Amino acid sequence: MSTFFSSQLKNLAPYTPGEQPQDQQYVKLNTNESPYPPSAGVIAALNDKEAADLRLYSDPECKELKKALAGYYGVEPENIYVGNGSDEALNFAFLSYATDGRGVAFADITYGFYPVFADLYHIPVQIVPLKSDFSIAPKDYYGLNKTIVIANPNAPTGLALSRDEMEGIIKANPDSVVVVDEAYVDFGAESCVELTKIYPNLLVVQTYSKSRSMAGARLGYAIGNAELIRDLETVKFSTNPYNVNRLTLRAGVQAIAEQDYYTENCKKIMATRAYTKEKLEALGFTVLDSRSNFLFAMKPGTDGGAIYRGLKERGVLVRHFDKDPIRDYNRITIGTPEQMDIFLKKLEELL
Ligand SMILES: *Cc1c(COP(=O)(O)O)cnc(C)c1O
Repeated sequence: MSTFFSSQLKNLAPYTPGEQPQDQQYVKLNTNESPYPPSAGVIAALNDKEAADLRLYSDPECKELKKALAGYYGVEPENIYVGNGSDEALNFAFLSYATDGRGVAFADITYGFYPVFADLYHIPVQIVPLKSDFSIAPKDYYGLNKTIVIANPNAPTGLALSRDEMEGIIKANPDSVVVVDEAYVDFGAESCVELTKIYPNLLVVQTYSKSRSMAGARLGYAIGNAELIRDLETVKFSTNPYNVNRLTLRAGVQAIAEQDYYTENCKKIMATRAYTKEKLEALGFTVLDSRSNFLFAMKPGTDGGAIYRGLKERGVLVRHFDKDPIRDYNRITIGTPEQMDIFLKKLEELL
């Protein structure tokens, strides 16, 4: 740290992304990327002409993409914020709806970026513990009177609340914004997007990083009441108006035109998830009921850290969180059936 670093920031503990090794070829099951490439039209859209056009700024209003997303989700373009990954939309939501002393509430076990955003903006945090089976008790969030952030499905557990359960939380907090992070919703959970038409305090955040195979393009969006969206736009135009680059905007529009391909991939991943869960259970693992593109699993009596390290030595990367009470678990991204067979074979060797 330099002596010049703001005293406001010097105690900040930044988010630790999953390993992105650039050297060895791992079977990479650690950061919930899709094992399938973007659709053919997306790859074709990133052509010489688009590259030559990089001399021009991108559309700061992201008009074409908002129109495509609005058509797909049955809302209006004014109900959509487009961002540089959903991490940016979440960042701006924390900044917009919780920095004035209101505070924020989220689960003790959830996406690791939430505490970092809270820390960054000095937002008071109310931690809402999960139940002992790692599920969320909706009533714990009723009437909290602060901004609420819920990943649904949750990470790294993969467990999801139903839309009705989410609606209960949204209804019971009419004076607070409820941010629902739906990064994994396309893998078998119920989305709250429809509810944004009824509840002006609901912001749904989604991403192209998981179900649309574009983690490297950095594209996310938020859907909500037009006034909530305008708040996010105000923050964006006060920090980085060209937050989404031209190539990514192009790819984002094209992906919506080829949504069937991505829906098919999600089905494949869900089938591979069921196959992998069954095999893990046969090996004695406890596996949570995931609605996401990963499994959260532990083997009673076996050290989760040792499993993580043993797999890494054998060329398979999974994600281990060295914290109570999930230290014995590993989060395993669902890859292709072939990748999962390698994972299972290496795991069996290790055990
Ligand atoms: C992956 C993930 C995100 C971030 O996605 P980007 O769009 O790549 O920034 C947000 N929330 C959760 C819960 C995630 O797992």
